[in-house]
Amino acid sequence: MDCERIARNCPQCGSAHHSAVPGYGRDGWTTVACDDCDFVFLSHAPRYEALSETLAWSKQFAIEKKARRQRSPVVSWIDEKTRWRLHIARENEWDYIAEKVPQGRVLDVGCGAMNRVPDRFVPYGIEIEKAAAEVADSLMRERGGAAVHAPAIEGLGSFEDAWFDGIIMRSYLEHEAAPLDVLRVAARKLRKGGAIYVKVPNYGTINRVVRGVEWCGFRFPDHLNYFDLGSMKRMAAAAGLDFELRNTFTRYTNDNMHVFLTRP
Ligand SMILES: [Zn+2]
Repeated sequence: MDCERIARNCPQCGSAHHSAVPGYGRDGWTTVACDDCDFVFLSHAPRYEALSETLAWSKQFAIEKKARRQRSPVVSWIDEKTRWRLHIARENEWDYIAEKVPQGRVLDVGCGAMNRVPDRFVPYGIEIEKAAAEVADSLMRERGGAAVHAPAIEGLGSFEDAWFDGIIMRSYLEHEAAPLDVLRVAARKLRKGGAIYVKVPNYGTINRVVRGVEWCGFRFPDHLNYFDLGSMKRMAAAAGLDFELRNTFTRYTNDNMHVFLTRP
């Protein structure tokens, strides 16, 4: 993959010192662990313009899926055929936020070209892809909300403090170069008692150990951060948010982590 690479410090503690995690790299992209706080992340990020244009998430997902199938067709086939484990939960993920927030304004960060905020809420969105943001904006305006075309921090900054009752960060935080900064701004934009629902790949899953670099949570180079329970908890605390794991019983078997972060 030819694109400009930006070296990263640890997104949790800011340290410039990290060590490669053996076997967890591809095409010159390297997964590293922070020497100071153990946070796991990609050592370099593609330049922002590249992410917005050539590495659009949806496209990148299709490319990775195809490549994975070619590398290990049988394992991929089994993996895909046993996806029902996830489908049980997947249906209702958009409603998870309703468990913490009964009504009001809800923001979908990285909303894509659609409005998936449940009907009971006034929908808002932030989307980095221009064309997608425009589609989302027109759909959300029909229900009294809006979508902005911007990177997350900039987009969040355009709203008043304490504006949102809830925020959805579904399959987003793993793509974000500055996840702690985003959570800090998001915390400010939540009313007291408001909640963020976060879904991220679960680096702590047994499946990651079994499948190694073929684990579905690895996507080079568009997944920049690899959270496990401990590192998600620490980042939430650093952002001043209360942490609650939703999928308590599947914490080591679920490829994803479902978390509520609440503004105290
Ligand atoms: Zn660190």
